[in-house]
Amino acid sequence: MRKFEGDRLLVATHNKGKLAEMTALLAPFGISVVSAAELGLPEPVETENTFVGNARIKAHSAAKASGLPALADDSGITIDALDGAPGVYTADWAETPNGRDFVMAMTKTWEKLEAADAPFPRTAQFNATLVLAWPDGHDEVFVGRLPGQVVWPMRGAQGHGYDPIFQPDGFDTTLGELPTEKKNEISHRADAFRKLVEGCFA
Ligand code: IMP
Repeated sequence: MRKFEGDRLLVATHNKGKLAEMTALLAPFGISVVSAAELGLPEPVETENTFVGNARIKAHSAAKASGLPALADDSGITIDALDGAPGVYTADWAETPNGRDFVMAMTKTWEKLEAADAPFPRTAQFNATLVLAWPDGHDEVFVGRLPGQVVWPMRGAQGHGYDPIFQPDGFDTTLGELPTEKKNEISHRADAFRKLVEGCFA
């Protein structure tokens, strides 16, 4: 496992929420964070069909273009009865000509489970894969998971994306009903970040 040495890290995202989350996480280690958007790096096309494949594309292209170690993530929900769908296409299921519509995406998800007559519980997991890549081509990969089930109807206004239809194991609320601090403790992203910190920053 290669340790991160240095004081500057590139976060390979154009998403402000992800940048804020990663900046906060890395602050205790005295690491200053610069984003791909700030450096005007292009957003590479995510052509792989795995989380790790797409996170690698983003991390390596940013590391190469900037000469800095770069951190990227890819995430989504995989539903067992749908053979892992939507998986890497989680955000795509929400695309409309006018932007992302997650109520539509969640409705589509439940309709597909109904059409498949999927047995209960309709097990699923959120996945978050982090890749830290160096300009010399080396990388380290960390996979975070949050197991649970897809439920209906949608519940809760907290969170984002598919949170209102995802009930984590051990809870009787959806992620959409959980306070943000609680979600950030148990989430797939928190799991991946803990592994990253342990592996490369501790
Ligand atoms: P990406 O990682 O930017 O490719 O986006 C993955 C998609 O997965 C997001 O647009 C969300 O729809 C979904 N997703 C990832 N993490 C979460 C989560 O914590 N709650 C709800 N949806 C999520």
